[in-house]
Amino acid sequence: MPHGRTGKAFTCLVPGCETHNDGRFGVLCSKHRQNRVRNGHPEQSAVTETELRPYEDHARRILEANRYKPLWETLFRRWQLAGDKADEVMAQWTRGQPMDKTVKAAAESFVAIKEEVEPMKVLSIIIGMHLYRAQRPHRFKSDEGFNFTLVRRVRALTKSHAVYYYHPNGKVRAANYIALPIASTKRVAEWINTVFGTIALAIVQKLEEKKQKDDEARRDFNRMVSEITVEDESP
Ligand SMILES: [Zn+2]
Repeated sequence: MPHGRTGKAFTCLVPGCETHNDGRFGVLCSKHRQNRVRNGHPEQSAVTETELRPYEDHARRILEANRYKPLWETLFRRWQLAGDKADEVMAQWTRGQPMDKTVKAAAESFVAIKEEVEPMKVLSIIIGMHLYRAQRPHRFKSDEGFNFTLVRRVRALTKSHAVYYYHPNGKVRAANYIALPIASTKRVAEWINTVFGTIALAIVQKLEEKKQKDDEARRDFNRMVSEITVEDESP
């Protein structure tokens, strides 16, 4: 079926998706529209905590090995300043200042992050996400897919990111993720990246350079081994 308008129904714009919809969400079916809003791209799936863990652990080891460097203090001061700006936006909103609701939602979410999550934890998630992308670039459908899933991983550590439903047996609980408007997620990603993005990218680059040097050293060694001459002197 052709994509776009077909009679009254629409077919989703995502290749291979034959789901019809009523056009309420534009050219995407509800599932792909939800992915777009939550994860930044119609075909981007969320990155789970388990999935990110090995990369976040690697990031934490890097941070631990460099714990006495003065850089972190500077970064965390910047993080504090970004948080102060978000506080100021919330104060303006409280005073009744006219404001785009996506700006308010972004500030509210950012305030929750800076109040509920240790900056070191935020930093290890961000470095972990960059390490993950360097390792598996195709896991992310676009820069926005990367940024939105990154924001989602950080927001997952705040109480306000989801509504919980407790199972009658008291053990299992299901969470309904509360997505931010697209414009708000973009703002939160921008705030986070302004403070921590540069250092995360620099660490990834350093690792890649190190890997290249190691590869070169291995090639040199293999070449030297191959240049060894031997004579067969078996009797
Ligand atoms: Zn679809």
